[in-house]
Amino acid sequence: MARITLSNLRHSYLDNPVSEDDWALKQLDINWEDGGAFALLGPSGCGKTTLLNLISGLLVPSQGDILFDGESVTNQTPEERHIAQVFQFPVVYDTMTVYDNLAFPLRNRKVSEDIIAQRVAEVAEMTDLTGMLNKRASGLTADGKQKISLGRGLVRTDVNAILFDEPLTVIDPHLKFQLRAKLKELHSRVSNTMIYVTHDQTEALTFADTVIVMNAGEVVQVGTPKDLFEKPAHTFVGHFIGSPGMNILPCNIDNGKAYLGSSQIKTDNRATKGVTNAEIGVRPEFVSFESKGLDVKITKVNDVGRFKIVEVDLMGHSVKLLMGEEQSIPAENAKIEFNPKFTRIYANSHLCEQER
Ligand code: ADP
Ligand code: MG
Repeated sequence: MARITLSNLRHSYLDNPVSEDDWALKQLDINWEDGGAFALLGPSGCGKTTLLNLISGLLVPSQGDILFDGESVTNQTPEERHIAQVFQFPVVYDTMTVYDNLAFPLRNRKVSEDIIAQRVAEVAEMTDLTGMLNKRASGLTADGKQKISLGRGLVRTDVNAILFDEPLTVIDPHLKFQLRAKLKELHSRVSNTMIYVTHDQTEALTFADTVIVMNAGEVVQVGTPKDLFEKPAHTFVGHFIGSPGMNILPCNIDNGKAYLGSSQIKTDNRATKGVTNAEIGVRPEFVSFESKGLDVKITKVNDVGRFKIVEVDLMGHSVKLLMGEEQSIPAENAKIEFNPKFTRIYANSHLCEQER
């Protein structure tokens, strides 16, 4: 197990990158604490797999260093780095039995057969493969084969980190839920450094203690699921995480304070002098109907079971509110308020860091 540091890292698949867009990964500086459960979350094409392959050594970075426990491994092969990696699609030896597939990474390292038997039994139990150990891998469904891939990633106990690249893509939805819970449980048991790549916020937020949100080759925020929800550092995090995402409304700034029309909006932060493209960000959870507040027109009510999503028009902008089933929607003269503790000013998409 190791602490992983990415220092001044950049990567381009081109020989001579020129524009910013030529870089699949822009400047990265991250420290992944030893033994943590991390998720790399972001939309397709944002650079998650590139980053994972740089950490495992399948790719060599165009610039910068990768360090394990402070020592550079940038020029080491994946074998030398002792990394287990589970890919998006199954990689199995079809002609071997499930048992032999799971045993493979251990046999490669000359582990004794009795320890292998014990580890394979444990991992088979975890991945729900116990009844199939003597079957040939070729006879399994895509689901089953991916469980073998997962098992192979988990079977070694001497790795620096286990990397998962969207490993549940081909797995059937209810098994997905079960396997995700098992990975989480496994992490708390063995406390191996685990990095889990996904584009699915639920997967990231349930698995990880620390989530790294990426967009267009950049890290936009590193934080706990609570941080990402309560204090998005970037409007991208605000709308990518949450369902529905954060309301983002263009506003005017006067003396550090935010205004919508002539109404001042109380916020948790202040805008720094001379900011441009100012916006107010507030999650639907922190908007409520009140007897006093901003006049709105209700445009849509969407009942989604345990709660309602209400859409209102505020000075020509759409704002969403999340309400409990029992809360009532005003029949006329609807007014809303934003909870000031969770309402913030953003400038050029970034959170203004100045406190009130
Ligand atoms: P993600 O895993 O988040 O979907 P990737 O890391 O696969 O993103 O891709 C990041 C960017 O790098 C994308 O623009 C993608 O097209 C590009 N890219 C990925 N792999 C290669 C490759 N082997 N050659 C050239 N470009 C690539
Ligand atoms: Mg990918």
